[in-house]
Amino acid sequence: MNTLTQVFDDVLGLFYPQLCITCGERLISQEKYLCMKCWFDLPISRFENENENKVAQLFWGRVQIEHATSYFNYRKGSRYQKLIHFIKYKGLKELGLETGRRFGDILAEAENFNQVDTIVPVPLHPKKQKKRGFNQSEWIARGISESLNKPMLENNLYRKIFTSTQTRKNRFERWQNVDGIFGVNNPEEFENQHVLIVDDVVTTGSTLEACAYELLKVSGVKVSIATLAFADF
Ligand SMILES: [Zn+2]
Repeated sequence: MNTLTQVFDDVLGLFYPQLCITCGERLISQEKYLCMKCWFDLPISRFENENENKVAQLFWGRVQIEHATSYFNYRKGSRYQKLIHFIKYKGLKELGLETGRRFGDILAEAENFNQVDTIVPVPLHPKKQKKRGFNQSEWIARGISESLNKPMLENNLYRKIFTSTQTRKNRFERWQNVDGIFGVNNPEEFENQHVLIVDDVVTTGSTLEACAYELLKVSGVKVSIATLAFADF
């Protein structure tokens, strides 16, 4: 996205909420943020019943994950990048919630996911959360939690280190970078639970790997992963 498009999008989001944020078409009365056609055209991954899908494969040989899936995949320049952008940076919490609910409806039908015990959003570092004012993953997780009818625990896993785990690193550097990024306040709360970690996008999987690594230190914990988008670049 170039700067001009960016500025245009921002203005669009702030002053014309009656336009679809992904295609720019006028919304009809019951629609909010996205038009029905854009919801319908969302490139849904259907990974939830597929054990060896592209998201699960990201974690092979890195950390033990039961199941992993993403709601939809998107490519660079796809209009659905805007959906993520508005949830992540523009503070459309309600859109995060709604997208999470829709994803949760799919997970509720999937045996691999409807048996989880707890939903845990990937935490932001307190400094970053303060700056952004909200944690987008928490809103997505809240929607999933509602549809799955499973509790969300948002303060037990926390981020200790303010660092980017998203940059591409070789395997050794990445391994060094996994331990100690996240911490668990009260391990008993997670004991023997199947935890579903929720994030907005998965690209390299490093952040999710670090979360899973920390959760798996707790006795009897199993970890699965669900993200809204899978960056299929
Ligand atoms: Zn649209």
